[in-house]
Amino acid sequence: MTATLPILRLLKHKDRRLRAGHMWIFSNEIDNRNTPLTAFEPGEAVLIQDASGHNLGTGYVNPHALICARLVSRNPKYPLDKSLIVHRLNVALSLRERLFDQPYYRLAFGDSDGLPGLVVDRFNDVLIVQITTAGMERLKDDIVIALEKVIRPRAILLRNDTSSRELEGLDSYVATVAGEMPEQLEIIENGAHFTASATSGQKTGWFYDQRSNRASMQKYVRGMRVLDVFSYVGGWGIQAAMAGADSVTCVDSSALAIDTVNANAELNHVGDKVIAVKEEAFEALRQIRAEREKFDVVIIDPPAFIKRKKDVNEGLKAYHRLNRMAMQVLSKDGILISCSCSYHLQQDKLREIILGASRHIDRFAQILEHGQQGPDHPVHPGIPETEYLKAFFTRLLPN
Ligand code: SAH
Repeated sequence: MTATLPILRLLKHKDRRLRAGHMWIFSNEIDNRNTPLTAFEPGEAVLIQDASGHNLGTGYVNPHALICARLVSRNPKYPLDKSLIVHRLNVALSLRERLFDQPYYRLAFGDSDGLPGLVVDRFNDVLIVQITTAGMERLKDDIVIALEKVIRPRAILLRNDTSSRELEGLDSYVATVAGEMPEQLEIIENGAHFTASATSGQKTGWFYDQRSNRASMQKYVRGMRVLDVFSYVGGWGIQAAMAGADSVTCVDSSALAIDTVNANAELNHVGDKVIAVKEEAFEALRQIRAEREKFDVVIIDPPAFIKRKKDVNEGLKAYHRLNRMAMQVLSKDGILISCSCSYHLQQDKLREIILGASRHIDRFAQILEHGQQGPDHPVHPGIPETEYLKAFFTRLLPN
């Protein structure tokens, strides 16, 4: 039995990429004569077929988006509905419960968890949800019911205010859809406690993707002077202080982030070691250099400088400049932890940038390790875009 869904048919040969593992369909791949895209509502569920009418699976459509359809299940029996969402959330939950002792993690990571267009971050019994496609937006109520069933949360907040929603013609809003949302989220990561604003924090409020890299950082900081640039609420810096750093300076341009760094330092009894500075990052690095102040470990974990392909040139310049300036304030055998969450900056390119910066300041570089996003952000092997986070740990010596 197949689900009784309207059919979306592809042009000849346009099934190959999907059969090879990809999950997205572009608008120029549709057989518009037989199944015109314009006949579909944004987000409508469909049965996807190749040019000869063979089923490829179920999915959903958005006639207004460049990615005009997404494959949801290769089994034509299962359309995306409440019961499939419950099933996939349970499968996602079982991975996270295997990975972590405590309920603080990314519960669902879009395509990589078979839930294209849906991200859910879990803060114990509080869930922050981000919907980025029309197909998921249509199922918003079912998503809430499914989450209530699988997690029994105290509150659910939709942080539907990301710019990527524009690509799908979706509006921007933030709404509590279940329970009463606390003003502050509470996070436990690698043994450290944090708070972050639920409604005005960055993205979903916390960057769980860096958990394993922050754990790797801890072995480099004992007795060291640490600089955490683009610190947000102190994810790296406070864990550095707790791992035995002598002093930690966190820099961020957001006053709210800086106030929260201070609160989080107190929360973990490292207030005496942590200084939080509200300053623009490049300006802060320029001042530190001008004052000839040095740090033994410098962490740069900026927002994505390359959000879209057209930003590549400008973004590359910014990464070059940032890495150079960060190295200029490193002590004699200092360690730079250089991150990028831009998908469009490939790992090799970041390595080249680090090499280029080390040549620029005439230092000998050793890459000690490189990290990626943690396992609660699985990579879909057919969708390169799901692998986006890079973190290089590099020691810089005199030549
Ligand atoms: N490193 C953080 C995540 C960074 S999010 C963590 O581990 O959680 C990006 C942060 O950079 C935000 O807090 C934002 O306020 C800050 N930011 C963005 N542009 C900035 C700039 N030009 N100078 C300083 N901070 C900036």
